Amino acid sequence: MINFNKPYFTGKETEYIQQAVQGGKISGDGIYTKKCHQFFESKYGFKKCLLTTSCTDALEMAAILIDIKEGDEVIMPSFTFVSTANAFVLRGANIVFADSYFNNPNIDADAIEQLITPKTKAIVVVHYAGMACDMDKIIELANKYKLFVIEDAAQAIDSFYTNKLGEIKPLGSIGHLAAFSFHETKNIISGEGGMLVINDEQFIERAEIIREKGTNRSKFFRGEVDKYGWVDIGSSFLPSDIIAAFLYAQLENLENIQDRRKEIWNFYFEGLKTLEERKLIELPKIQNYATNNAHMFYIVCKDLEERTALITHLKNNNIGAVFHYLSLHKSPFFSNKYKGLELTNSDKFADCIVRLPLFFELTKTQIQLIINKINEFYGN
Ligand SMILES: *Cc1c(COP(=O)(O)O)cnc(C)c1O
Repeated sequence: MINFNKPYFTGKETEYIQQAVQGGKISGDGIYTKKCHQFFESKYGFKKCLLTTSCTDALEMAAILIDIKEGDEVIMPSFTFVSTANAFVLRGANIVFADSYFNNPNIDADAIEQLITPKTKAIVVVHYAGMACDMDKIIELANKYKLFVIEDAAQAIDSFYTNKLGEIKPLGSIGHLAAFSFHETKNIISGEGGMLVINDEQFIERAEIIREKGTNRSKFFRGEVDKYGWVDIGSSFLPSDIIAAFLYAQLENLENIQDRRKEIWNFYFEGLKTLEERKLIELPKIQNYATNNAHMFYIVCKDLEERTALITHLKNNNIGAVFHYLSLHKSPFFSNKYKGLELTNSDKFADCIVRLPLFFELTKTQIQLIINKINEFYGN
């Protein structure tokens, strides 16, 4: 059986966890947490990084930080994971879903402006498959209507956007706030884990407080105040240093992991492009402003029926391919609340995407087998 995913261990994880344990401090913000923060801040120029226990938590922190209140509207794609929406729903926001592009699952930047009202407070973009959204247009709208931009960069580690001035920006450095995931299905992992990136300085002090149960404990540990107490709302969003120790071992191998994943991605692309040329499937399109971090390899089938048949065919050949994201506006939780437009592109990706196995240890022989079985399905 070729599983859909297999977490990759670099070999150093247990050693670093052992060191964290021996160091005698395994709660949050220990030595390894600081090493991870420094890694991200220096490699990607993020203004301030705070590890969290998940990307979901980082998104919840973002919703608190921009002061989402009952009735505020937040625009986001429907084709995304539930956490993108839940974080804001938890604070009473009304979610306004926008469609994807026809040939790209990301939010259609040209579909956003018509959804903006005086109640709109933020645009949440999701860099699907780690490929950038059209950020110039989105930032322009945000400036025009004074909205916050939050990047759900769960899948977008080590991926970049080239803006209209030709500047190359790491994803996660563009919005006011950004959230990354280190869930075991992502490129860089810690089992469960995430990170809030703060690019707008006005949020730094409060973010530290919210992450520490609404206390100013971070300031206390830095010696900036002589006692700490309850100063704001908050929760326990920070991970144990054991998690950070694991993550740091991954970060040290980031280039190696990324190189291998890109190799696998390109191998799939080469092996499947004749099917696209024959218009039997669609392959991912990398926009000229985006890079590919090889988070995901997906193909787009003609319709739901064909997709179901393909996944079954692969399963019968012991290959674990999956689909995901039922459009959120059609979910059991949201469909009776949804009053917006038809989101046909979002529905298309919900019905037609198949994700193929992509993990560090996947061999060329296995990839070739998967390619062969897909070609066989299409009668090649
Ligand atoms: C994985 C993912 C999340 C959730 O990440 P967790 O770390 O599991 O909370 C959120 N949004 C998107 C787009 C994701 O892919």
